[in-house]
Amino acid sequence: MKKIIGLTIWIFIVIIIIPAILIQSCDIGENTIKKEKIIKEDIEYVYVYRTKKDKIEKIEIEEYLKGVVSSEMPASFEMEALKAQAIAARSYAVSRVKAYGGKGNPGHKGSELCDDVHCQVYRDESELRHIKPKDWMRDYYPRIKEAVEKTKGLIMTYEEKPISQPLFHSTSGGKTENSEDVFTSAVPYLRSVESPYENEAPHYTDEYVLRPSEFVSKMKKKYRDITLNSTNIKSQIKILQRSEGGRILKIKIGNKVLRGRDVRSVLGLRSANFSIRYGGGDIIFNTVGYGHGVGMSQWGANGMAKEGYKYDEILKHYYIGVDIMKMK
Ligand SMILES: [Zn+2]
Repeated sequence: MKKIIGLTIWIFIVIIIIPAILIQSCDIGENTIKKEKIIKEDIEYVYVYRTKKDKIEKIEIEEYLKGVVSSEMPASFEMEALKAQAIAARSYAVSRVKAYGGKGNPGHKGSELCDDVHCQVYRDESELRHIKPKDWMRDYYPRIKEAVEKTKGLIMTYEEKPISQPLFHSTSGGKTENSEDVFTSAVPYLRSVESPYENEAPHYTDEYVLRPSEFVSKMKKKYRDITLNSTNIKSQIKILQRSEGGRILKIKIGNKVLRGRDVRSVLGLRSANFSIRYGGGDIIFNTVGYGHGVGMSQWGANGMAKEGYKYDEILKHYYIGVDIMKMK
């Protein structure tokens, strides 16, 4: 009798309970897929002005993105960071096609994008083979391809429209910048946010040392009418205002009030977030971060990926209020 009861229970489990569990998990899977939001954009190709060859190439968008991500982020970065970069690059490409498709981006010989830093750097496979270290194509290129293929068609949108400024930089230095503090306009999704996982960034802080006479000559080369001399240089430099992210907005040098980003460019500093020390007769610039600081920090994205965050969480952290949608 006991055997019969035991058998009945087993049959019940096999016939009723296990299939019920399986059906439920299938439902969960389906629901996850259904959640992907679709945007009506149909962009398969981009026209790219190849600056060195001085010609326009028509490139399938996903192929183009492999050449961009290879050039814009180290392929050794975490997969989720590479995916975030792929989506940022795709969003940029799509926004340029929407803005300039047909009529051409000014100065781009009729195409929508160029292959240089002005837009985003693109190198095709034969160029990558030439530029990258030996075995890169074998060991690292497959990672780039995977990042692009697994995010196929995904772009960032804001209020249901593809975003046009998916800006990024190497290292924020702990906090990113509001767009209007670095460039001219306030973009709603480019707000200053914390970037806590950048510890491994090679240029998180840096130092740049020069003699007062060198400093004066560099400044005079750029600003011919500046009143500045190398004796008692300390009394002639004053930081006046910093941004929310820490970069210098205004600095007085001699008789001029300059922007931190201009001083960064004149001296070739890694960031406009710097402090100044004086020692041994030198001026010492201590920088924090690397790059303009707006949008996604690449080292921050890599750090987030190491902490277990997924590409969509990384993007939504650095670009406030965006959605990720699939082109159809
Ligand atoms: Zn361009």
